[in-house]
Amino acid sequence: MDTGLPGDLNELVALLRSFPGVGARSARRMAFAILKWPENKRGRLGEIVSNLSENVSWCPECGNIAVAGAKCRFCLDASRDGTVICVVEEFQQIAGVEDSGLFRGLYHVLGGRLAPLEGRGPEDLNLDSLSARISRDGVSEVILALGEDVEGRATAAYVAEVLSGSGVSVTKLARGLPAGGDIAYADSATIAAALNGRVALGGKE
Ligand SMILES: [Zn+2]
Repeated sequence: MDTGLPGDLNELVALLRSFPGVGARSARRMAFAILKWPENKRGRLGEIVSNLSENVSWCPECGNIAVAGAKCRFCLDASRDGTVICVVEEFQQIAGVEDSGLFRGLYHVLGGRLAPLEGRGPEDLNLDSLSARISRDGVSEVILALGEDVEGRATAAYVAEVLSGSGVSVTKLARGLPAGGDIAYADSATIAAALNGRVALGGKE
């Protein structure tokens, strides 16, 4: 599309447009705002973005986002209850559970869900380390905070199956999460109710 903008600015607009929820107009406004920033602020943005994969990584314990080479803030926090693990699909969903203010355990991020039609199978889930944590850390309950749609339910059933026989009690959030199961965007009262009303899926009763 010929926007009449100089090439680099045009490309910046195109990059900003690739953000979720950002249309052509917002992308142009953002690009023009960046253009007006002082040099050092623009430089810092460029630096942060280009060093992101070097400085930000995944927690070796739970798969949450973390400072590169370190455990995440939950795994480092000795006041958290290490015997209860809440399993989420993506790290962004942790914030939703945290906002409920009810959960004091640790997390485990699967890094996706089972989606056979899109070619995502069990080998794509961060599951080996979950089993390792359960046997190593004396985990008593695993709460599956996964979606209520077909893929979310299939993923929950698979994880429950993998954990059966590990001696851990497997529960899932009560129904009542938004369709599509994206708990990252559920309100905290909904998540609190879903946590309080969690139901047994399998494992130890
Ligand atoms: Zn962690």
